[in-house]
Amino acid sequence: MDIEERFIRDIEVLNSYNSDALGFTGFPEGLYRPQNKGEVIEIIKWANDCKKCLTPVALRSSTTGSCVAEKGFLISSEKFDKILDVNFEKKIVSVEPGVNLGEFKKFIEENGFFFPPDPTSENECTIGGCVSTNASGARTLKYGPFRNWVTGLEIVLPDGKDIYLSRKVSEKNCAGYFGFQNPIDFFIGSEGTLGFITKVELKLIDKIDKFYAMFLPFRSEKDAILFCREIRANNLDVRCLEYFDSNCVKLLKEKRDDFKINGDFLIFMEFEVGQKDEEKLFDFWLLFFEQNNVLVDDILVAETCSQKKKLKEFRHFIPSTINEISNKFILEGGGKISTDWAVFIDDLLSTIEHFREILNIYGFNRENVFCFGHVGNGHPHFNLITKNGYEKDRMLSAVENISEYVCKIGGTITAEHGIGKVKKRFLKYYYNHMTFEWVKNFKRELDPNLIFSPGNIFDLGELNG
Ligand SMILES: Cc1cc2nc3c(=O)[nH]c(=O)nc-3n(C[C@H](O)[C@H](O)[C@H](O)COP(=O)(O)OP(=O)(O)OC[C@H]3O[C@@H](n4cnc5c(N)ncnc54)[C@H](O)[C@@H]3O)c2cc1C
Repeated sequence: MDIEERFIRDIEVLNSYNSDALGFTGFPEGLYRPQNKGEVIEIIKWANDCKKCLTPVALRSSTTGSCVAEKGFLISSEKFDKILDVNFEKKIVSVEPGVNLGEFKKFIEENGFFFPPDPTSENECTIGGCVSTNASGARTLKYGPFRNWVTGLEIVLPDGKDIYLSRKVSEKNCAGYFGFQNPIDFFIGSEGTLGFITKVELKLIDKIDKFYAMFLPFRSEKDAILFCREIRANNLDVRCLEYFDSNCVKLLKEKRDDFKINGDFLIFMEFEVGQKDEEKLFDFWLLFFEQNNVLVDDILVAETCSQKKKLKEFRHFIPSTINEISNKFILEGGGKISTDWAVFIDDLLSTIEHFREILNIYGFNRENVFCFGHVGNGHPHFNLITKNGYEKDRMLSAVENISEYVCKIGGTITAEHGIGKVKKRFLKYYYNHMTFEWVKNFKRELDPNLIFSPGNIFDLGELNG
């Protein structure tokens, strides 16, 4: 069959692929669902020869528009859904990119192992999508982002050549420029701009025998954030520290009858018991809580699997409900704006306070501001519901303002969702002119015809110019 004929062009099918979790849409000419690597190579060679654009797409849980096609065709990983090779002895697993992360983790745990990365969206996203965005989650505090768990990648590059890259593991290394010592790292987090991933090798650890999860209530945002800072300053062994501000707590109380936790500002915390004496561990934490302004009488501890699952579910409920609410305003030009900036933990409280002031100056209604997420890593998400185009533009200016600020103090504009199509305007604060030129030259070197994921990370004009 002629290659062009292999693309699905049915409008209804295309529409169902043409939106990410934030309702960002594109203009796909067609969709291709390759069944194997040979087909991927064939389609990429064809696209490169004809200068047609391709955007990889998986489960579309992106919140930056990175999986929608600004032009050209979508290439889906959905038929790449197999676990290929399992070596439990070496704790290494090879998978195809379209494997659902939640299902993968379940399979691994049933076999006595653990795969730590835990984006809140784990049941709605694929391993390929997570590699491409270097996704992370609550437990990144202890275990790091996806990047730390990827030991090998097979990629079909924009010229149709396939390569396999393994992570170098020597503890010391002086082989040339540091940034190039582990080329696999260029592809993790590249947001579909450098080729199509066809295989991922991941490492595992043994299943964690026992851990506790709990909601800790505080009187104020300040108390909650300073509590987390104290944990980091003392290097205490916790695996997640997630924040819910008073608007998130209010939302949960309004929408979930089963949410019965006292306190207006909450930290969700998990710690592992390991070989430690459990009684002593609890004594230690109780004292620490009392000394650091936790409202100890209202702590909610989960011990059983179903209790832990429920606490996690509450955490996930926040962004997905805000997405649902704000997607209703897309037609009027509004929708959700989600910040993803991160700063050094010592700067977190002042940065949150500064951003709240900025939002105030820009006239944003406090009721529509929700702050939650990975404060243990200095990485809160502000979700802003905007009701029309005017509000959205103003809020984007407020976010630009804070983006410039966080870059000045050594932070980043995106710590897990990526740049996609929505954060390009903030990149100038992150890179200086020269390093941004190097980044663009790298993209041009690998993809001279600029066929992969146009509009992600870079504007096409910038790359052409
Ligand atoms: C409610 C909610 C909560 C979320 N929570 C988190 C969170 O806690 N942490 C976090 O990091 N993210 C989170 N996200 C964002 C999102 O889930 C992640 O970015 C996820 O990794 C995207 O995976 P996906 O399979 O849906 O990929 P898609 O959204 O379809 O694609 C994402 C990117 O991956 C690229 N891509 C996909 N497959 C391939 C491939 N085979 N080869 C090359 N490129 C490819 C696409 O081109 C695109 O650039 C959340 C999203 C939602 C909606």
